[in-house]
Amino acid sequence: MSQKKRTLFYLVDGAHSEIMPELINQGLLPNIKKIIDEGTYRKATTCFPSTTGPAYLPFLTGHFPGTMDITGIRWFDKKEFKRTRWNKNAMRSYCGPEAAWFNTDMPTDKATLFELMGESYNLYNMITRNVPDEYDLGKKGKGLLYTRAHFWKRHHPIDLQGHQRIMEMLHSGKDFDFLFAVFPSVDWDSHYHHVRDPRTIEAYKIVDNSLGEVRELLEKKGWWEDTLFIMTSDHGLTPTTEHLDLGDWMTNQGLKSVYYPTIWKSNPKSAVMISGNSFGSIHLLNHEGDNVLREREIHTAMGESRLDSLTKEKAVDFAIYRGDEEQSYVVHNVDGKAVIRVKEDTFSYHPESADPLMLGNDLKAEGHREALEITFNSEYPDALYQIHQLFRSRRAGDIVVSARVGYDLRDFWEYPEHLGSHGSLHRSHMHVPLIYNQKGWHTHAARTADLFNSILKWKGIIPKSSEGEALY
Ligand SMILES: [Zn+2]
Repeated sequence: MSQKKRTLFYLVDGAHSEIMPELINQGLLPNIKKIIDEGTYRKATTCFPSTTGPAYLPFLTGHFPGTMDITGIRWFDKKEFKRTRWNKNAMRSYCGPEAAWFNTDMPTDKATLFELMGESYNLYNMITRNVPDEYDLGKKGKGLLYTRAHFWKRHHPIDLQGHQRIMEMLHSGKDFDFLFAVFPSVDWDSHYHHVRDPRTIEAYKIVDNSLGEVRELLEKKGWWEDTLFIMTSDHGLTPTTEHLDLGDWMTNQGLKSVYYPTIWKSNPKSAVMISGNSFGSIHLLNHEGDNVLREREIHTAMGESRLDSLTKEKAVDFAIYRGDEEQSYVVHNVDGKAVIRVKEDTFSYHPESADPLMLGNDLKAEGHREALEITFNSEYPDALYQIHQLFRSRRAGDIVVSARVGYDLRDFWEYPEHLGSHGSLHRSHMHVPLIYNQKGWHTHAARTADLFNSILKWKGIIPKSSEGEALY
């Protein structure tokens, strides 16, 4: 019997924390059900923005998007832009050729699991720093396959090929310490069809089949018993019926906006970056200096009436921005405002004229774990800490918009049209399924960042830095 501790990680991109258990109860995912019977099913929270790319950072690095300075699938850096706009670090979109820069955009002192875990294989995830080509199972032919999937909306060949590459690697006699496999079709089918479309459900079944075959092979090799198996997701999704283009909205309000793909406009007064597409960051450029703005400065640059109009838009659940006090954040919706304050390690929430996070009353939490615990089952799980971590980075912008369920923030340039969205602080986006083949782990509220520590602990490694905690 082998003593080697392996980790097999299935990331089912966009897997929904409520739809997945439904499918399991209907008997559609027997291999996943077997894991749950022998191990655990629970929910965890992802990060803000709850969007592909940035939301891979917590489990792969133990850090959140604000700490990693990667605040969206698209981001903008006012300081760099004002220095000179034709500068590589003025803005970014990972939805295209700039995706390759994700690796070099990450701080070099924050290691990934691929760099820490020994023989580490990757399938289809874009965080590949220091992963040699022969360990990047999906790389060969990926470009063409992805292009075809995108234009023909035929996504499943990608997941099927991914599974074949895992099987080929295992059959070739190679061994692994860490195998991280992304199955992208649940996310794509949910975006372009519906979260419960038969094609989306088929995508879940492809993952289940893959797990069944890979598990069988690992059992034959005598490896399964010492393998930590984890299945989770980076965000949920909700169906979308209406789009508000936040960039055009700013332009129509007299604050001409640059946004992807029209980034060349002259003399812009703002920049708007959308992720997921229920997350938007607004960067005001119509002011002296290159700093991020706080409440009073936002009132001057944006104008109080424009800010009010923004919160009155149906697509806007709430806007968030830095308060005038250090480490304070205003959450502003159509009814009014609440304030989050972080002092030392204490997180507090105070509804001033409204309760946009629907927490019911004033709240106080000692430490970010307690802040997670008391908000975990609310409408906006982990909102207090997630807002705080995001605004650590200036790239978060001056104002962050979390869209209302049913709406998103990008219209004309989104092709094909999105019929599903994520990225917001809403629990349908923030909660993810968390499944593992172990019992008896801690039962306190979990974040996906905790998986980073848990996986390293399986190997007996203590991480140098992490915002997560081992779950056992
Ligand atoms: Zn995703």
